[in-house]
Amino acid sequence: MTFHTLNELIAEGVRGRYILVRSDLNVPLDGSTVTDDGRIKASLPVLAKLTDAGARVLVTAHLGRPKGAPDEKYSLKPAVARLAELASFNVALAEDTVGRSAKQLAASLQDGEVLVLENVRFDARETSKDDAQRGAFADELVALTGGNGAFVDDAFGAVHRKHASVYDVATRLPSYQGDLVHAEVEVLRKLTSDTQRPYVVVLGGSKVSDKLAVIDNLIGKADTILVGGGMLFTFLAAEGHKVAGSLLEEDQIPVVQEYLRRAADAGTEFVVPSDVVVASKFSADAEHQTVPADAIESSSFGAEGIGLDIGPDSAAAFADRIKAAKTVFWNGPMGVFEFAAFAAGTRAIAEALTVTDAFTVVGGGDSAAAVRTLGFEDSQFGHISTGGGASLEYLEGKELPGLSVLDR
Ligand code: ADP
Ligand code: MG
Repeated sequence: MTFHTLNELIAEGVRGRYILVRSDLNVPLDGSTVTDDGRIKASLPVLAKLTDAGARVLVTAHLGRPKGAPDEKYSLKPAVARLAELASFNVALAEDTVGRSAKQLAASLQDGEVLVLENVRFDARETSKDDAQRGAFADELVALTGGNGAFVDDAFGAVHRKHASVYDVATRLPSYQGDLVHAEVEVLRKLTSDTQRPYVVVLGGSKVSDKLAVIDNLIGKADTILVGGGMLFTFLAAEGHKVAGSLLEEDQIPVVQEYLRRAADAGTEFVVPSDVVVASKFSADAEHQTVPADAIESSSFGAEGIGLDIGPDSAAAFADRIKAAKTVFWNGPMGVFEFAAFAAGTRAIAEALTVTDAFTVVGGGDSAAAVRTLGFEDSQFGHISTGGGASLEYLEGKELPGLSVLDR
């Protein structure tokens, strides 16, 4: 695929032009506090480049999953306030997406200023399956740029979505790949071709069903897949063990069994934990014990016990594999890291990633938030991806509409 880059657009000249930028400002919030501003920081360089060059920048972004209508809970206000704090340029937020406020503020925007439109998902047409609906919304977004606009896609976290602000606007304006999307794709390319071996993949998180497609595609490509998080219990069940009250997706057991069979022939080794931290209930202050993974019901909580983290032996074994690797991709926390008592497994993996000589990539919103809340710095990792779903779909080998639409 070949893309036009942001630098090409800047060389063509942007002073006084309206440049529509799709950014990823989809940050986690606690009320109106941004709890991880990684995506905002990652969005800054492209906006700074454009404003430095004198562009009038119109930013589209989404936050959460509002139901196609304005909803204060999903307003971009907190994200834009944080953006304005970090930015060296003027930033305003419109009260709507393509309504009166957006039109008025866009018309009075000066060279070198940024106007963010409200959450694009406040308009149901953004995510519509109907091409004409999405197209009509895209037409209104494009109209804000006047007759001489251009589009820059810098929202890596949304490239797997065929949405109006990602896909349809790109068919209507000269389109360019933003630096963040470019950097993310370069990193993922290293995980899919000429990958340095051993290639170790660490998978965790909550649901195995979210990760099946990527597991399927990694069999035969990764040397080792380390299994943690809520999904480990479906693996244990697939090996015939009881998992008490732990997260289990029973309907996925046959699929996992098929993967385990195929992996042996394909040269991929699955490593399932040997010990597990079991809790009396799902809560921060629950009583807990470490037990062998094949005897979860042997904890004093019996059949009521819930596995909330990998145990210390497993964490050490996983860390050894990571230290011996040349390439590591990690998606999904090893345990319920939000509770301090069950964060040790996730911390051990993060720690191992910071000391290995391997090229390391962390993907996934919760995984990125986990390493930051556990006190690690972004610079300790090879790359922390801003896109969870997008990086997984890339590794699944799927076509990403937001990338292919920029191909020319
Ligand atoms: P990511 O966003 O990095 O892709 P996921 O969304 O798949 O990760 O999963 C993150 C969630 O998985 C976290 O909120 C964490 O609490 C949860 N989780 C991890 N281990 C377990 C477990 N043993 N039981 C229940 N939930 C778990
Ligand atoms: Mg998540």
